[in-house]
Amino acid sequence: MVYHEELKWAHPDHHDEIMKSSNGGAEPIQVQSAIHTSRIEESRITSHYGTELVYVTFYTYEDRKLVRMVLDERYAFEELLQKANELLPLGRWRLFCGTDTHVSSEFKNSRQVWDAIKQTSYYGIRYLEVRLIKIGESARCDGCYREIFGSRYKCTECADFDLCGVCEMGPIHSFHKLIKI
Ligand SMILES: [Zn+2]
Ligand SMILES: [Zn+2]
Repeated sequence: MVYHEELKWAHPDHHDEIMKSSNGGAEPIQVQSAIHTSRIEESRITSHYGTELVYVTFYTYEDRKLVRMVLDERYAFEELLQKANELLPLGRWRLFCGTDTHVSSEFKNSRQVWDAIKQTSYYGIRYLEVRLIKIGESARCDGCYREIFGSRYKCTECADFDLCGVCEMGPIHSFHKLIKI
């Protein structure tokens, strides 16, 4: 049975297809009809490594793109990276687990991507949320030493001093004026 909640992961064009395949359970979604598929998928249909049809949402700071991909256990990371660079060619991207508003760990290899995919099956639909960060876009907070994504607070007097949103609210570096960038 399909719960409507899970359909939010899929493009509306594919809802009928998902309902059909989930109800029967037997009918796989046809790879040929996917709007975006990875290039080398055909060679691996017979592979004994896992492949999964995954609804991937790529988030950037100001954009999101939902694509349907057949990902391979061995190459999932490279496939996501290739797709990100195809869809959003303006930057070289790093892949993080997260959305536009929340970022957690960075994906560094296919094993990590695959583990994340395996955790996200709702009634047979697998999805993945990937936050794209441009190489060079992030900075390190000089207060807590964590990586800062998106906007940060830069000191107007020191040569290279940045704070994250949390540290900016505290007493650190309150003797200089910080501007949000
Ligand atoms: Zn901080
Ligand atoms: Zn300063």
